[in-house]
Amino acid sequence: MELFDKSKIEKEIRELPNGILTILLDTAVSLNINSIAIVGGVVRDLITKSKNQDSEIIFNDLDLIIEGETSIYVKELQKKLGPERVKVIRNNTTYKTSEISINGIKVDIATAREETYPIPGENPIVESSTIQNDLIRRDFNINAMAIELKDNKLLDLFSGLDAIYNKKIDFLHESSVLDDPTRIIRASRYSAKLGFRLSHQALRQIKDTVNLWPWNWHIGDNADLAPSGLSIRLKMELELLLKSNYWKNALKNLQDWGGLNILDPKLQNDQSLIEKVFIAKKSNIEPLTALVYESKYPISLAQRLHFDKQQKEIIEGACQLKKYLENLTVNDLYKKWPPSKWTSFLEEINANESSFILEICKENPLKEYLISWLTNWKDIESPIKGDDLIAKGWAPGPEIGLELKRQRMKLIDEEIIS
Ligand code: ATP
Repeated sequence: MELFDKSKIEKEIRELPNGILTILLDTAVSLNINSIAIVGGVVRDLITKSKNQDSEIIFNDLDLIIEGETSIYVKELQKKLGPERVKVIRNNTTYKTSEISINGIKVDIATAREETYPIPGENPIVESSTIQNDLIRRDFNINAMAIELKDNKLLDLFSGLDAIYNKKIDFLHESSVLDDPTRIIRASRYSAKLGFRLSHQALRQIKDTVNLWPWNWHIGDNADLAPSGLSIRLKMELELLLKSNYWKNALKNLQDWGGLNILDPKLQNDQSLIEKVFIAKKSNIEPLTALVYESKYPISLAQRLHFDKQQKEIIEGACQLKKYLENLTVNDLYKKWPPSKWTSFLEEINANESSFILEICKENPLKEYLISWLTNWKDIESPIKGDDLIAKGWAPGPEIGLELKRQRMKLIDEEIIS
């Protein structure tokens, strides 16, 4: 079929060097590898493009599957093209994958595999298998197609071609969400990116599975005990979604489908969540950090999603700030505080500036003071330097620090009056 002719694919995806697909096939043939195929997003995008010439193929990498050992295949490819052209980025023997670059283009090669999920939501057991079976373990009909390089044939076991024409995403089987709940996030992302709807069955599967909660770990349990493989993949998928251009629609999909319940029920029900993340994004806050802060138990969710040290510090600082401000409102005394008192109070908390922005986005009732500190008071420096005081005869020591602080606070109060 002309659509999947190797030279035509190379023309459609300008990043691919001329003749590369034939070289990839010849290498497989020379090793007696039965079958090699292009798979995943590239196949989906080629089909979409054939239907709608205006659609764009955004090429990130080439995903290949082979019925053979990836490390042996990569060595042979290096022999053919030379180590200068073929660079190994990573070999993962457990997952039977190799990440390489050919002429600087990223190519992911995987041994065709079957996957079984002995514990729902945890890492699967992987066994080498055929390309057909490899398609069966995938996420959606639109992503479960392959183009075999030997005969340019499209393998489409789940009517992916029709699904693309009908703009409808479906899971491949009834336990798809049970096996891997990150597929809910992926579905929301593809639906927003491609403008495709989710089938009724898929939507029902999401709702029923999330309501049933068939996974061992529950929200509210110790976050350290959440299965780490799943948590890391959840974080990765959320980051991918939130950094995309279509993140608002994707997040809306998740709320409409009840999908945010896999993270936190408060996020699921927050009608102004998109607006809050939008404001945080505009203030240069990482959107996932902003999202997590809007949850019911932000520290626990940050821990569950394996946030790094800096992300955790921002969340913890914001929680601390919130607590301090809540304690302040038990009486009205703060209403008489001058700016200098506010500055001392807020600076003692020692929270990251991003923590302040998170509390502002969260509509803290005292946010006007947080904004004043962030945009004005914090940048006001003492009118004189320590060296000036020493030149005036002050002895070096802690007294100098106190005097500089006194002068800075005085200036902060004067600024507001002037
Ligand atoms: P894009 O780059 O546009 O996001 P892609 O489909 O290439 O598209 P990847 O995340 O690189 O996206 O995934 C490659 C392929 O791997 C997918 O097309 C899909 O077939 C499979 N896949 C990825 N994640 C999962 C998953 N959680 N469950 C099952 N299959 C998956």
